[in-house]
Amino acid sequence: MTDTSASEALDRAFGLIREIRDYPKPGIGFKDITPLLADPLAFGAVVDSMAEAWRGQVDVVAGIEARGFVLAAPIALALGVGFVPVRKSGKLPHETLGVEYSLEYGTAAIEMHVDAVRPDQRVLVVDDVLATGGTAAATCELVERVGARVAGVSVLLELGFLAGRDRMPGRELSALFRV
Ligand code: AMP
Repeated sequence: MTDTSASEALDRAFGLIREIRDYPKPGIGFKDITPLLADPLAFGAVVDSMAEAWRGQVDVVAGIEARGFVLAAPIALALGVGFVPVRKSGKLPHETLGVEYSLEYGTAAIEMHVDAVRPDQRVLVVDDVLATGGTAAATCELVERVGARVAGVSVLLELGFLAGRDRMPGRELSALFRV
């Protein structure tokens, strides 16, 4: 893809993120990326761009359930590294470590397999949306608790007005789009 067509595809991708008002609760503007995922040109450009920003800098990509999986898996393949799932409580079959945290709308708990990453590995944490930053911060904490290093956090869309970035001082954070 040329630079121009890549940037056109990224513009198109941004335009394909739709906001669903008052979902899942009144007052929340939910950023729905399903139209973007359904468009191969837009989806491909997003994956390429999110991967290229970290080429050579990571050994593992950790995706956050559920929309984070959809981005993290192709990013991992594009970078030639493995994918590790970070899941909601009770979903992983092997021994896990977990952490609880607060969301823009409620609370949640996430888990990782204790042997998902090795101590010497640099982990890129991937999710679709950075809102209050609780999920990404909790994932970074989990990665470090299982003994690996957080190379950084990569999100498709940062909701700047929620200042999630401030929950992760000192972390490398890249956002493809920001509103
Ligand atoms: P937070 O922990 O507040 O940064 O929330 C981030 C997580 O919740 C991500 O896994 C997002 O998929 C989801 N999320 C939170 N707020 C929104 C939103 N307004 N639109 C779409 N997803 C959201």
